[in-house]
Amino acid sequence: LRPPSFSLLLQSRRPPPPPPPPPVHSHDDGSGVEEVVIALYDFYGPEPHDLTMTKGGEYVILEKCDINWYKARNIYGKEGYIPSNYVTDKKLGNLEQYAWYSKHVNRNKAEELLRTEDKEGGFMVRDSSKPGTYTVSLYTKSAGEGGAAIRHYHIKETSGCPRQFYLAEKHLFTLIPDLIEYHNHNAAGLVARLRYPVGKERLAPSTAGFSYEKWEINPCELTFMKELGSGQFGVVRLGKWRAQHKVAIKAIREGAMYEEDFIEEAKVMMRLSHPKLVQLYGVCTHQKPIYIVTEFMGLGCLLNYIRQRRDTFSLGSLLSICQDVSEGMEHLEAHGFIHRDLAARNCLVNDALVVKVSDFGMARYVLDDQYTSSSGAKFPVKWSPPEVFNFCKYSSKSDVWSFGVLMWEVFTEGKMPFEHNPNHKVVMMVLEGHRLYRPKKATPNIYDIMLRCWHERAEERPSFSQISILISDALEVDGSSSA
Ligand code: ADP
Repeated sequence: LRPPSFSLLLQSRRPPPPPPPPPVHSHDDGSGVEEVVIALYDFYGPEPHDLTMTKGGEYVILEKCDINWYKARNIYGKEGYIPSNYVTDKKLGNLEQYAWYSKHVNRNKAEELLRTEDKEGGFMVRDSSKPGTYTVSLYTKSAGEGGAAIRHYHIKETSGCPRQFYLAEKHLFTLIPDLIEYHNHNAAGLVARLRYPVGKERLAPSTAGFSYEKWEINPCELTFMKELGSGQFGVVRLGKWRAQHKVAIKAIREGAMYEEDFIEEAKVMMRLSHPKLVQLYGVCTHQKPIYIVTEFMGLGCLLNYIRQRRDTFSLGSLLSICQDVSEGMEHLEAHGFIHRDLAARNCLVNDALVVKVSDFGMARYVLDDQYTSSSGAKFPVKWSPPEVFNFCKYSSKSDVWSFGVLMWEVFTEGKMPFEHNPNHKVVMMVLEGHRLYRPKKATPNIYDIMLRCWHERAEERPSFSQISILISDALEVDGSSSA
C-alpha cells in the first residue's frame, strides 16, 4: 500500500442551480394516488433516458425499476430515470425533506458539527440510538460561565392514541416538524431556541452507476490524473469521468484477476449502493487492461489515515470510524454478500471524513496462490476466524470476526494484530483460545464488542445489525466523554 495523497483537489466551479420548479400536483387517476417525491440534490441525467433533477423540485414516480433507479416525470411532462437515493417522499411527516434532519449523524458527529458551526441555537434532529426515536442536539454559546454547551434532548412521545410528540415541557404536537417550528420561536425549557439548522449532508451521494443499467464505461470518457496507490490488482489512479466526476480508476494488471468472473459479478456489485460502501461506478472491459471505476476517496486507505493521525482521535471519533464500517457491512449482510477480506487496509476515507468499506467480494477474483490459499504468505490469517483458516468457510459471521480485528486496528490506531507473529503461530494461538489484548483506548465495554466478534462459534457472534446498535450505545455512553 502506498500512503494516500493529501493534496487539496479543487472542485470545479459550476453556475448556481436554477430555482426549484413550482410544485407538482399529484392526482388520482383512478388507480390510486401518484407518489410524489422531492429531489434532495441536483442530478444531471448523463444519458438521454435519464431525467435531470433540481434540488427541491417535485417529481412523480412512474416506476420503481430497482432499488437504485426509478422512472419519474417532471412538471413539464418529461420522463426518465433518476437515482432513488436522490429523492424523498413528499409525504407529511417524512423528516428527510427538512434541512434540520440528519438521519445518520451520531452523537459524536453531531457535537463536532455544532461546535464547528458555532452558531447560537444551532441544532439538528437525528436518529437516536434506539430505533424509531429521535434526538434534538442543540448548541448554545452562552451556557452560564460564558462557555458554550451542547444538550441532547430525546423527542418524547405520549402513550395515548394518537401519539403526540414533545421536548422539554409538555407542548404536544402530532407532527415533529410542527414541534420544531414551535421551538424555533419558543425555547420553552430548552437551553436555547432551535434557531439554526446545522449539518445536513450537502454533498450529493454516489449513484449506483452513472446512469440506469449502464455498467460499461467508455474509456474515452475518462481522463487520468495522479497515481493514488497500487494493490493486489494493479495501479489505482485518480481520474475524471466526462471531465466532471472524480473517480478512482484501477487498471487490472495482466494475470492478476479472474476477469470474466469478475465482469459477470460487477453487475451485482454495482447494485450494492450505500453511503458507507465505496461505490462501483462501472467497468471498461472491451480493452486490455480492463479498468474498474469507483468512487474516489480523497483521504485514502483507513489504515494509513489512522496511523498518520495517531493520538489525535477522541474515543468518539474512533467509535465513529467503527460505526461507519459496521453500517456498510450491515448493508452487505442484509444482501447476503460476504466481504471475505475486511480489514482497515480495505476501507477508505473521503474528504468529509466518512469511512467506507471497499474491495468487497474481490478476494474471489484474485489470481495469486499466496493470497488465496490459507497457507499462503498473503492470506489474511490475522483477520480470519478458525472456520476460515481451517475450512475456508466464509459467511457474514466470518466477516464479523474480521470486523472485530478491524476494531482492534482502529483502537490501537493502526497496530499490526499479533505483531510479528507468523501466520502459523497465530493459527495455533487462536485455536488455543488466545485473543488480541484490550487496546489502551478501548473501554471494557468497547473491548467486549470485539470479544463477541471473536466467539469461537460463528453462530454465537453478533450480526452487523446488532454490532451497529452496540456501537451506537457505546457512543452514547463513552462517545462524548473525551472530546
Ligand atoms: P489493495 O489491493 O491493497 O486492497 P487497492 O488496490 O484497493 O489496494 O488500492 C491500492 C491503494 O490505492 C489504496 O491503498 C489507496 O491508497 C488507493 N486507492 C484505492 N482505491 C481508491 C479510491 N477509490 N479512492 C482513493 N484512493 C484509492
